[in-house]
Amino acid sequence: MVSDTPSILYVLGDGIGPEITRASISVIDAAIEKAYGGNKKIEWIEVSAGEEAEKKIGKRLPDETLESIKEHRLLFKGPLETPVGKGFRSLNVTIRLMMDLYANIRPVKYFKGLESPLRNPEKVDLVVFRENTDDLYTGIEWQAQSEEAGRLRAFLNDSLGVKVSDDSGIGIKPISKMKTQRITRMAIKYALQNKRRSVTIMHKGNIMKYTEGAFREWAYETAISEFRNDIVTEEELYSKYNGTMPSGKLLINDRIADNMFQQVIAKPGLYDVILAPNLNGDYISDAAGALIGDIGVLGSANIGDTGGMFEAVHGTAPKYAGKNVANPAGMIKAGTLMLEFIGWTEAKDIIDKALDKAISAKKVTQDIARFMNVEPLGTKEFAETLVGFIKE
Ligand code: NAP
Repeated sequence: MVSDTPSILYVLGDGIGPEITRASISVIDAAIEKAYGGNKKIEWIEVSAGEEAEKKIGKRLPDETLESIKEHRLLFKGPLETPVGKGFRSLNVTIRLMMDLYANIRPVKYFKGLESPLRNPEKVDLVVFRENTDDLYTGIEWQAQSEEAGRLRAFLNDSLGVKVSDDSGIGIKPISKMKTQRITRMAIKYALQNKRRSVTIMHKGNIMKYTEGAFREWAYETAISEFRNDIVTEEELYSKYNGTMPSGKLLINDRIADNMFQQVIAKPGLYDVILAPNLNGDYISDAAGALIGDIGVLGSANIGDTGGMFEAVHGTAPKYAGKNVANPAGMIKAGTLMLEFIGWTEAKDIIDKALDKAISAKKVTQDIARFMNVEPLGTKEFAETLVGFIKE
């Protein structure tokens, strides 16, 4: 249930964040106005995080911001800086864990006019569902020379008869049944609601049998036990239906991870929704993004059972900060995912059409204009162009 005037939090973000977030909000508001003529409206509430919060409050993720996120449960987030290999923990990860946002959802669809490395990029229309809370990302690992790694090696050797050489660091890869079930459920529900053709489970279960293999097994089990009347497995497709999909059903199949990579490049049109554990999902999300030639136009949703965080796929691009040249399209796409999440799909469709129109008309920011050999628009001017198309 979403009110007609929901309060939604936003964080401007670091680097190019403030420019692209403000530009995106103007586009989202224009689309809502066009779709619902004043009957629906977002009440935006700014909360502080990142560099600006550190300067003002002395903390990158202030307690008030965390409390507001817990209370409001919807966050539209500009990119935040995370230093490599040192310093504070990623703010994105902190928020994801706090809200248990277990699904990272990234739709990848080609925009006519982008410079893609593929011959037929218009066939790319994928949605990656990446499990967000399990797997090697739980951070259970120890350095080779640590006492803990030594104790673990001794345990493996003495109790389980497994030899691990003394100079090995050790990491643990947990994959849980409950976490696999909930992401599978979400991916299948999404696929059914959006009339997608298939959900492909991506795994490396031939090698990691009890983690990635189990992910595959539990995902099929969930599909069959909870969605029996709506789905057909690939095995059933050939054993029962002679290779022809019965109409109105969703195909559930699986691919081994390495094969999946070459498949999405060689035959992108065969794939639709991809369901993956955390690490595979991380890799395939960026690889899929590259298929359309520019991850700058992609947004992603981090969703749990009690809320969501919506952001661009790219980062803070510090060299472009404050110059009015950054592309706000990724953040705007994140906004469309948020509108979809709250059920305001009419406004989402209006934005998607305006984006298609702008890119086809070569009204684009410098990151795309340089490939099209056209004069670039600034961040603000690009947003104004979209608002103009929306109002037409
Ligand atoms: P990045 O910020 O995505 O920037 C890499 C390059 O991508 C830029 O130099 C630029 O390429 C292009 N680019 C990205 N966004 C663009 C936009 N909106 N418009 C135009 N060009 C854009 O990646 P990074 O340099 O690796 O990361 C910088 C910081 O962002 C790091 O602190 C990282 O941790 C953080 N980050 C945050 C998030 C998040 O908040 N979710 C995600 C990723 C990274 P050209 O140089 O070719 O023009």
